Amino acid sequence: MRDLQAIQRRDYDVVVIGGGVNGAATARDAALRGLSVLLVEKNDFAGGTTSWSTRLVHGGLRYLEYFEFHLVRESLREREILLKTAPHLVQPIQMTIPIYGGGTRSYWEIQAGMILYDVLSYDKTLPNHRMLSKAKMQQLFRAVDRDQLKGAAQYYDGQAEHAERLCLEILLDAQAAGADVLNYTTVTGLQRQGDRLTGLTAYDQIAEAEFTVSLPAQAVVINTSGPWVDRVLGLGQRDGQTVPISDQRKIGGTKGSHIIVNHFPGAPNTALYVEAKSDGRPFFIVPWCGQYLIGTTDLKYTGDLDRVKADDDEVDYLIKETNQVVPTARLSRQDVKFTYSGVRPLPYAEGKKAGSISRAHILNDHTEDGVSNLVSLIGGKLTTHRQVGEEMTNWAFKKMGKKVPPSPTRKRPLPGCILPDDERIETAYQRYRDRVHINTLEYLFNVYGARATSVLELIDDRPDLAERLIETHPHIRAEVVFAMEQEMAHTVLDFTRRRTVLAMQTNYGYDVLEPILDTLRRHCGWDDAKCQQAAAAYQQFMEENCIPDYVLATAMAGRSLQAV
Ligand SMILES: Cc1cc2nc3c(=O)[nH]c(=O)nc-3n(C[C@H](O)[C@H](O)[C@H](O)COP(=O)(O)OP(=O)(O)OC[C@H]3O[C@@H](n4cnc5c(N)ncnc54)[C@H](O)[C@@H]3O)c2cc1C
Repeated sequence: MRDLQAIQRRDYDVVVIGGGVNGAATARDAALRGLSVLLVEKNDFAGGTTSWSTRLVHGGLRYLEYFEFHLVRESLREREILLKTAPHLVQPIQMTIPIYGGGTRSYWEIQAGMILYDVLSYDKTLPNHRMLSKAKMQQLFRAVDRDQLKGAAQYYDGQAEHAERLCLEILLDAQAAGADVLNYTTVTGLQRQGDRLTGLTAYDQIAEAEFTVSLPAQAVVINTSGPWVDRVLGLGQRDGQTVPISDQRKIGGTKGSHIIVNHFPGAPNTALYVEAKSDGRPFFIVPWCGQYLIGTTDLKYTGDLDRVKADDDEVDYLIKETNQVVPTARLSRQDVKFTYSGVRPLPYAEGKKAGSISRAHILNDHTEDGVSNLVSLIGGKLTTHRQVGEEMTNWAFKKMGKKVPPSPTRKRPLPGCILPDDERIETAYQRYRDRVHINTLEYLFNVYGARATSVLELIDDRPDLAERLIETHPHIRAEVVFAMEQEMAHTVLDFTRRRTVLAMQTNYGYDVLEPILDTLRRHCGWDDAKCQQAAAAYQQFMEENCIPDYVLATAMAGRSLQAV
């Protein structure tokens, strides 16, 4: 149980609002540099934009067109840092750009961009790009549309297949350095006195209790609530009255949707970075966890931030464009296994085309709004989270009038950091291979890294936890218990969608719901009523956010999706 009393008694230097990747990186950097930190997240960690991205750790080739060289350089440097400090979570991925006559960019323009990308990543360990002639491209990608094909460019970027676990490991490291991190805790009010925030109120959904955190004289508040930044700024209170921190809109979010499909005829074995035929927008077809992640769209969004869903039109657009570039795919709505949608927390820019709004992040100090100890993050990518954490912590030290110590995060490995030749892997294989399938052992080390040994140790005392949740997938019951006991998971969705990606692989997670609930009953003290409630909440979330409307509209789908 959480000790809210202790939290209320503690004098924090830094309170971080929002447990997405940027809030997590800020909490980690600040805690590692000796500050006392509280992070509060209203949902599960990474439950916002962080879990809805394309999961690429990339330099942003496209930003070169807008002359954002600084942003590209920064992202490429961060890509390299992540490949070294989190090799189990961020891996190289080969990208291929097919080039067509009549496209927005010519072969030579793309080649020039590629050369610049290589120059800006001069210190990388990944290979440089290569250009492919039409003949070579046709040889390597036989199923790719040949009409007006001129050739291709190939290069490497990074991929965080489990972006949610990246966020989690950053938070575990923050916690190990002394930070208090709370999920399912919503900030409900920011108390203003004079030109400062002096405290905040929050509601803890786990303890079902409201509590107050008083801020000592020097303390600062860091608002990393992504697309919710304006909402959080609206929580300002003075003398019991609501007085928003700022009356200017900061975020102009755009919605981006993805679809997930199984391997299809002609599926590429590298990621394809393609220009859509219908509107010239770039989109990705990315090999991901044995399936294909296809996206995204980019649409202005003003709807409910807590319920964002891919429209049927967006699904059709992504299917159609994929079929154009890989005609043998012949994808249809029936092939879509999962959809997800998120809102990019971009700076508000009236009248600008969504794609042209800068992806560079801004630290918005609210001194100009009359609050001197608050900063909000506007923008920011998955790729550059560590840099954001470093900058935010520098800002906090300066605000507190303290000397800024160097950040250790450029070199510090994440808790699960491990390379395939590590002897801990071999030892675990020897110890568990009679009880756990070899594919499961491989999967556990790929995803949990060095922490896989802690998952496996659970089966020493509770042998039934070695059982698979479903025969077709390597996941075992021990992961459910590990998520609840050691990774701050509280709900079934936390497990299927963020500690693992089972929701995206097993019929929206319905195929594994019963064994998960059974494990929770047997090992985590859940009773039948709690399991039933959990199943209903799970179904509601999936219907509101992930299952396409056209699926929900058919009677047949209703039957196949019934879980318990
Ligand atoms: C479709 C799409 C594709 C993308 N693809 C990529 C990509 O391939 N590579 C890349 O680098 N970037 C990508 N991005 C961008 C990247 O995902 C985001 O910029 C990044 O994840 C933002 O992280 P964040 O921590 O700032 O925000 P979030 O992850 O949104 O976190 C903010 C958190 O604040 C919490 N919160 C809100 N209000 C409160 C409150 N009152 N109290 C407590 N907590 C609160 C929310 O619940 C949320 O979890 C993509 C984004 C989208 C939408």
